[in-house]
Amino acid sequence: MIANETTEKRATRSLPILHETTAPAAFNPSSELADLEAELKQFERDEHKRLGLPAQDRHWRDAMIDPQFTKSERANTTLLVSGLTAAHDHLVKSALRGLGYNVEVIDVPDNDALRYGKEFGNRGQCNPTYFTVGNLVKHLTDRCRDEAITPAEAVKKYVFLTAGACGPCRFGMYATEYRKALRDSGFDGFRVMLFQQQGGLAQATGQESGLEFTPKFFIGLLLALMAGDVMNGMGYRIRPFEVEPGSTDRALARAREHVQNALANRKFLPFALWRARKELASIKCDFTRPAPRVSIIGEFWAMTTEGDGNYKLQRFLEQEGAECDVQLVTNWILYNVWEARYDARARAYLRGQDQAKASLTAKAERVELHRATLVAADIALRLVFQSFARLTGFPGYHLPDMDEIASVAHEHYDNRLRGGEGHMEVGKFILNVLRNKSHMTLSVKPFGCMPSSGISDGVQSLITARFPQSLFCAIETSGDGKVNVQSRVQMSVFKARQKAQTEYQETLDRLGVTREQVQAFFAAHPRYASPLHRSPHGGAGTAVDRLVEVAPMIGKSPLQVRAIEARLHGERVVHSARGLLQKAVRGAKDLRAQSGPLVTRLKSVLNRPAAAPSPVPPSPEADKPAPVRSAKLSVVHAEHL
Ligand code: SF4
Repeated sequence: MIANETTEKRATRSLPILHETTAPAAFNPSSELADLEAELKQFERDEHKRLGLPAQDRHWRDAMIDPQFTKSERANTTLLVSGLTAAHDHLVKSALRGLGYNVEVIDVPDNDALRYGKEFGNRGQCNPTYFTVGNLVKHLTDRCRDEAITPAEAVKKYVFLTAGACGPCRFGMYATEYRKALRDSGFDGFRVMLFQQQGGLAQATGQESGLEFTPKFFIGLLLALMAGDVMNGMGYRIRPFEVEPGSTDRALARAREHVQNALANRKFLPFALWRARKELASIKCDFTRPAPRVSIIGEFWAMTTEGDGNYKLQRFLEQEGAECDVQLVTNWILYNVWEARYDARARAYLRGQDQAKASLTAKAERVELHRATLVAADIALRLVFQSFARLTGFPGYHLPDMDEIASVAHEHYDNRLRGGEGHMEVGKFILNVLRNKSHMTLSVKPFGCMPSSGISDGVQSLITARFPQSLFCAIETSGDGKVNVQSRVQMSVFKARQKAQTEYQETLDRLGVTREQVQAFFAAHPRYASPLHRSPHGGAGTAVDRLVEVAPMIGKSPLQVRAIEARLHGERVVHSARGLLQKAVRGAKDLRAQSGPLVTRLKSVLNRPAAAPSPVPPSPEADKPAPVRSAKLSVVHAEHL
């Protein structure tokens, strides 16, 4: 309560009290607000006086938009990196070391980092901002204490490297937020270096810059991120089925060392990935255990981090016996490329209005070249990722088809809405259900996140109503309420586990085999029990996939097994070839149906926007207004009408 408040003033702010007979003073919102503002100002002045602080009437402005880090400082300066998973951060560190930088990884943010973030950050930020900003302040504070250096020395010695973007959500304000919190915590002038997420490979910073955003720099980063994705993907795929607890983590640590050494010493990366494969191949697994597969979607940072930012969600799910199907950083990069492709196509028709290089104001061939470059970038990313995945023993991971996700989501979440995951969260959830890709979908949305609030609270409710068979759980991460969140997740995982067990038992019954027979088959044919083997899609869970693949071979001689394998392989090849042929025939028919020169017709076929009908079934129930949830609330509401 503000000191020296008069009884009269307090009365003006009093809200009406139920059953009170005396009429309260008339409520005047604008004078109320003015009173409060004046009192707060006075309170601030008094506090400044009491604490002996100089009066501050000027707003803070970011004076570090172009921080200087010169080449001559490079030898004595350490780049700090953080923000993704431990595997990604350490591989990025190795890649940058390979380019000649001193690099240090900041640990994954924890609740202490959140406390620092809340103390020094602006009010009303989203949860990832508090965690990441607070983590940097915490790290620098710890460094000053451990190395016995002053904040000014820390400002000279360290530089923070992070991704930046124009937003449109709070992501666009991260860098300023970092600088503001650093100033308030005593690290004024600390250099936060940004590379723009959508800036492509041409973000050179000049000859004398300490940090050179050259193609070499970005290629090194991309390779490190993709290698990190493959390592993480392998871990989540194998860990739920390991026989000896901890064996996957130990093998992954050894595997990561091979890759880190190759990146840091600029050795041949494919060879290191091959050595990593050998480490992972030694893990003993039991693939007759029907673990529920949980697809984790949601806001990028909140679903990716492995610390308190999402209550260590992935490890918690694994403790509950689930297999996590995580979204990889490569998916995010592909989404960025998709955004650029989509915008280039839309802007190409803004003749005379748009000055960007993908507009028709630019020469037509330049527009086409720009779009062709983006298509080539998409293909190149996929090729590199799949090569890494094959080498490491991570086959069968399908990178999402961004056009398909956009197409299925568009009716419910406009493709032009950006920020956070955009339409991806909706599209992924729909595809999870339609393709039976998981037993449960878990959406992680940070407290205070602008894009997530619309998706999980609004759009996903409609989708779940239209797919009543889906198991969807949305959680909000705020740093506190861990027990509540985990208990909600636990309840949903319980249902998912039941689904997985029922699915496995029904598949055993349908195929006429027993679990003991499957185990005996795996013992006799270890390549099917290998953690590096991936069976074709047979159901929502990994155990069912393997069961469907091996069931026709159970009880057969080795020669018959070989014959079945050859037949199945042939069927897969024919299936893929048929798909490609159908696409080619459709394209040829479209071309024939048009008139004009071949190049114009080809362009119109390639440029045509996808017009797929919505795969979400209509439901009259879903569009009804939500029922009044609390009878008590409705009574109160009626009384005051
Ligand atoms: S997507 Fe949400 S949580 Fe992520 S930066 Fe934007 S506002 Fe924050």
